Amino acid sequence: MSEPVLRKATAPGHWQDVPVMHYKKEGEAPFQGVTRQVLFEDAGGAQWRYFEVDPAGHTTLERHVHTHAVMILHGRGRCLVGDRIWDVQERDLVRVPALTWHQFRAAQDAPLGFLCLVSRERDRPQLPSEEQIGQMRADPVLAAFIQV
Ligand code: MN
Repeated sequence: MSEPVLRKATAPGHWQDVPVMHYKKEGEAPFQGVTRQVLFEDAGGAQWRYFEVDPAGHTTLERHVHTHAVMILHGRGRCLVGDRIWDVQERDLVRVPALTWHQFRAAQDAPLGFLCLVSRERDRPQLPSEEQIGQMRADPVLAAFIQV
């Protein structure tokens, strides 16, 4: 079945006939208040998704071999990539390199919606071990940020 050429935006972060799905299976990994939408299933070997994190919510702290190309589309928040935390807002671009710990957190009073491009064929995310969490927590800035 062929995909339609145009899916009109119906509201910020919503498109015609694009279902809003669970981010991950409940209990599969720690997260809070995140939805996932697949915008383009096969765009030249890539998949283009949109994630929205509720105010005060967060994605999973994870890493994997595949990379992410992210554009903040809606709202604001902060992200951890590697060993640093950045403030992000609409239209900012974030690159997540291979095997780099990353986590997105929405602001307390605003959602964080972002586009994320990945390879269709990709490895599964790795979660940090207790030892790796301990290493991250040795940095007080990371300790205050990470949600696991
Ligand atoms: Mn990821």
